Amino acid sequence: MTKPACFSVKAYSTPAAATPLRAATIERRQPGPRDLRVQIQYCGVCHSDLHYARNEWGFTQYPAVPGHEIVGRVTEVDAGVTKFKVGDTVGVGCLVNSCRTCPECRAGYEQYCNQMVMTYGSTDPVLGGGTLGGYAQSIVVTEEFVLRMPSNLDLAAAAPLLCAGITTYSPLRHWGAGPGKKVGVVGLGGLGHMGVKFARAFGAHVVLFTTSPGKAADARRLGAHEVVVSTDAAQMQAQAGSFDFILDCVSAQHDINAYLELLKRDGNLTLVGAPQHPLPVAPFPLIFRRRSFSGSLIGGLPETQEMLDFCGTHNITCDIEMIRMDQINEAYERMLKSDVKYRFVIDMASLK
Ligand code: NAP
Ligand code: ZN
Ligand code: ZN
Repeated sequence: MTKPACFSVKAYSTPAAATPLRAATIERRQPGPRDLRVQIQYCGVCHSDLHYARNEWGFTQYPAVPGHEIVGRVTEVDAGVTKFKVGDTVGVGCLVNSCRTCPECRAGYEQYCNQMVMTYGSTDPVLGGGTLGGYAQSIVVTEEFVLRMPSNLDLAAAAPLLCAGITTYSPLRHWGAGPGKKVGVVGLGGLGHMGVKFARAFGAHVVLFTTSPGKAADARRLGAHEVVVSTDAAQMQAQAGSFDFILDCVSAQHDINAYLELLKRDGNLTLVGAPQHPLPVAPFPLIFRRRSFSGSLIGGLPETQEMLDFCGTHNITCDIEMIRMDQINEAYERMLKSDVKYRFVIDMASLK
């Protein structure tokens, strides 16, 4: 395989699980057929970035460049590009390619395609090595995996919609969160705070579960009708058997069974959190009341565009704290302490 033409960009990268991220230069392919180049203005910081940088899931390819909540401006388009032009404001989420022909791709579920290429965490089909994410000055992506950003939204606050937004929107839609439904959201972090906003916007009765009592007032401001401190057994017991649906957005070990007990007959608990270690599930909370336990991965391209358009119409963005690129390692430590309100976003102009 001859190496395609490339160009260099500045980025933040780590060479090993225990090494902090640091400035580096990486290679991107020159835009080929139907590719466009995006100058990255902002990139959200997902807890998956931390799991991946530290190889907590066991498949990290180093050097690793995380970042999959990317927004920016199109600076170059291949002649074959039809959907975008230079100067457009666009988004790139967790996916940069897929086979496009399998039943999942044809149904708009590219995230479940066997050959999907993640923005980071996959093998780069063009350059080899691991795909390199959005902690960088620019990225080259085929136009089918690029999203249009609503022009009325603050761009930095919209960046985390590309992962935190779609990952909560998709299962809430799939399981019918809406009027007459009691919906729980577990964990008020980047994902959880968007889960609360969407569940409320869809018309459900929303209950937020948190281990951080200090977040209760924020949870109500973000849209929760009730807040339950999950470490308080009496507060948990008071909710037993009452939920249609619970969305679990927790990044670390916790007791899933305590939440299964809160579901009604036929209620569903969907896990989007991806902790490093398995979560033991007890049989009885599931088999009593025919409850179900499932998972969900981000969302496909059509649903991601639908979610962005919904946010544009309803003026929904994320609550963010802007950081410089050189504050990323400190941001990871704060994220581990659940000390982020409620998503860090990197101002990529700080990567000089
Ligand atoms: P985050 O901002 O760090 O939020 C995680 C929240 O979980 C914390 O704010 C905290 O909420 C709660 N939490 C943390 N440690 C806990 C513990 N030991 N016990 C109970 N609760 C705890 O993370 P995020 O970016 O939202 O991501 C959450 C998880 O989703 C990560 O594992 C990430 O990899 C995964 N993820 C999955 C997908 C997907 O497609 N399925 C997509 C994106 C991210 P409180 O302070 O309110 O308790
Ligand atoms: Zn993510
Ligand atoms: Zn496919």
